[in-house]
Amino acid sequence: MPKSPECDRCLLYGRNPHLVCAVHPAGPNTDTCLDFREDPNAALEELWEPEGASYYNGELILQPRQRWTLEQQLELLDTHPLFTGRCPRCELPFPKYEIPPVHWDCAECGWVDDSV
Ligand SMILES: [Zn+2]
Repeated sequence: MPKSPECDRCLLYGRNPHLVCAVHPAGPNTDTCLDFREDPNAALEELWEPEGASYYNGELILQPRQRWTLEQQLELLDTHPLFTGRCPRCELPFPKYEIPPVHWDCAECGWVDDSV
């Protein structure tokens, strides 16, 4: 029974070996089904992320409480001592903490971590 790749994510998909969907019991005739209704729950399952965290390069990263744009997040990854291990202003290396502090203020140049 032909079903389109979309069928798995479709609200109308029967999830039944003998029935492709409620509208097209024998499957859609074409690859893109006119009656495709994206199942919001199916999409959510795929992209589910715990509150306050998101996946970055396959790793779960805790997000700051503020909303950051992707650009800001990338900049943070590039510059923040939590990720770089050094002060973004004077480049003084930070010690390796076992538990990273909330604020990475620099004692050397007075740089203040206001990202959280
Ligand atoms: Zn510094």
